Amino acid sequence: MGPKSRGWVALHDSNPESDPKIDLNLLSHPDDLKTLRNAFRVVQEILHSDRMKAMMKRPLYPDRYLETDEEIDAYIRAEANHAYHPVGTCKMGTDEMAVVDNRLRVHGLANIRVADASIMPSVVNGNTNATCIMIGEKAADMIRHDNMSSKNSIAEY
Ligand SMILES: Cc1cc2nc3c(=O)[nH]c(=O)nc-3n(C[C@H](O)[C@H](O)[C@H](O)COP(=O)(O)OP(=O)(O)OC[C@H]3O[C@@H](n4cnc5c(N)ncnc54)[C@H](O)[C@@H]3O)c2cc1C
Repeated sequence: MGPKSRGWVALHDSNPESDPKIDLNLLSHPDDLKTLRNAFRVVQEILHSDRMKAMMKRPLYPDRYLETDEEIDAYIRAEANHAYHPVGTCKMGTDEMAVVDNRLRVHGLANIRVADASIMPSVVNGNTNATCIMIGEKAADMIRHDNMSSKNSIAEY
């Protein structure tokens, strides 16, 4: 649930109607493959235990016991999926890759905010939809608060 691999989004060309280039860059960090390999070995041992074998006619995915790291890695690369939860292309934070601050304002700009899955600094452990709704609700509260606050001025930036 905590991948170290990082993908990227880039402009395809100067046409604003063009789809962006998106590369999820899955399994590009060696730790991610190692984590999945370790998990695979644990699950494989469970599935091939005598108790489980008594309940299964035959293994399906994969259809045989995988011995070596190379076999397991190849299986993971061929079969692993990402479950549609990409986030963090406009992440909240203060480091050089951060795009928005902790009130979702784009760094250096006064009145542009981002409020969606892209602001998550890293992917949440649960599903992303509820978190997106929370981000939207929180953004609405902050915009309302900032509009009412006398402190809300360009000078703040
Ligand atoms: C197949 C699939 C299954 C999923 N299943 C689950 C699940 O079961 N549970 C879960 O929690 N999460 C699930 N997710 C993930 C979840 O749907 C997303 O993380 C979440 O919707 C992201 O919210 P968002 O607001 O960042 O982006 P989006 O929901 O993609 O919203 C972006 C919005 O911007 C609009 N838009 C785009 N371009 C423009 C433009 N130029 N001008 C104006 N509007 C524009 C789009 O029409 C869209 O309404 C799933 C995702 C997919 C793809």
